[in-house]
Amino acid sequence: MPHSFSFYNTLSRKIDDFVPREEGKVSMYTCGPTVYHFAHIGNIRTYIMQDALIKALEYCGYDVKRVMNITDVGHLSSDADTGEDKMLAGAKREHKTVMEIADFYTKAFFKDFDAVGNKRPDVIEPATNCIPEFIHMVETLLEKGYAYVAGGNVYFDTSKLEDYYVFSSAIEKEELQVGVRDDVEEDTAKKNKTDFVLWFTKSKFEDQALKWDSPWGVGYPGWHIECSCISMKHLGEYIDIHCGGVDNIFPHHTNEIAQSESYLGHEWCKYWFHSNHLNDRAGKMSKSKGAVLTVSVLQEKGYDPLVYRFFCLQSHYRKPLEFSFDVLDNTVTAYNNLVKKVEGLIASDDALKAADKNLESFLNTVRSSADVDKAVLKEFEDKFADAISNDLNTSMAVTLLYDVFKADTNASTKLAIIDSFDKVLSLDLIGHALADDSADIDPELEAYIKDAIERRAAAKKAKDFATADAIRDELLTKGVEIKDTREGVKWTLV
Ligand SMILES: [Zn+2]
Repeated sequence: MPHSFSFYNTLSRKIDDFVPREEGKVSMYTCGPTVYHFAHIGNIRTYIMQDALIKALEYCGYDVKRVMNITDVGHLSSDADTGEDKMLAGAKREHKTVMEIADFYTKAFFKDFDAVGNKRPDVIEPATNCIPEFIHMVETLLEKGYAYVAGGNVYFDTSKLEDYYVFSSAIEKEELQVGVRDDVEEDTAKKNKTDFVLWFTKSKFEDQALKWDSPWGVGYPGWHIECSCISMKHLGEYIDIHCGGVDNIFPHHTNEIAQSESYLGHEWCKYWFHSNHLNDRAGKMSKSKGAVLTVSVLQEKGYDPLVYRFFCLQSHYRKPLEFSFDVLDNTVTAYNNLVKKVEGLIASDDALKAADKNLESFLNTVRSSADVDKAVLKEFEDKFADAISNDLNTSMAVTLLYDVFKADTNASTKLAIIDSFDKVLSLDLIGHALADDSADIDPELEAYIKDAIERRAAAKKAKDFATADAIRDELLTKGVEIKDTREGVKWTLV
């Protein structure tokens, strides 16, 4: 039987004990990226915390199936269905076709998604793959009287619902109603301000690139309908957990529930998991404020993407997190110290020191080692499961990681615990420790490398770049490659 699990459910507005429909099995849906631009590190924070949730559930004994969409059509510049299609705007900006834009930014998204140690969802479905499903759902909503055609578009009629603002308290509902009245650009075809588009045929933008035939004319789907359809296509009529960022709560997830439950005639998803924003000093991170700070940009600056993951895991997913390079630099130091501690564990034990340093075979050595104290391992695993199953307390999980080094047990046991925790944390500390060649290098060569790096730094300081380059080339002839990173000069044997 799986470990009990609880987390904050936006729908009930409290921490709920999680009970999936089928014991031990979890069906999960995640809103994917709109691939018109790079995903900034704030977007990636959301996916890191969702990855931690999935891995935490798996650690606790659940079998998770997760589906994610890729929005490559229909998401307008305002989430409330006004403005230009984001994909079209991206294509115009970069003088490319919409499909080229979708392809480029989908690849860029997954490069960063993977780099921070995330596991890919079981199903990833672009919206443009599912046009017949969208049309079918819109037809059904029309038949059931939840939708209407006006001015060429098909709208969802929110007045048919008893409670449209499902996520909100009474006070918030008032505020949202005022907000919707004031903010939304006038669309005179709508019966109610909160109605939203299920299918567009009347676009203000003549050059809308992606269009399909439908019973209501040539057009394209609204954004919200995607997630409902793609989720039902792969997970059926019920899902256990729906994930997203807090920005998705209104209107996107509110609209997803409205149309899904009207279509199905029953409750669709019981648990809603939302993670909070990443802010920089100027406020909420966004794509409209000039250059987009991505995980790839961090990498170009010399940061390991897993350091960014470590930074995110140290904070609770429901709190806004403030990003700065100063804090990230401190995280680099903390991460490197952990790697050094793992190196120390390996160096302290003759059998581990002699083991094959290929990560997989090294982990097999640790996992099968007779030295591992099973009782201590279990004790730490239980504490870890308690932390992550308690509203995904990843910072407590990180604290437990520090406790491992202080524990009164042998190196093999400590490494076995770190390996176990890494099923959720995915920090690859052991992999980094094994890859760090400085751990078991010939001392003479090491002294030479240190000296060469110092001589090169002195030459650079004196602006004698010819000498600095010559030292770098000299190192290379001896099989040592050096790299300048934010954490200083790093070297590897090539
Ligand atoms: Zn969605």
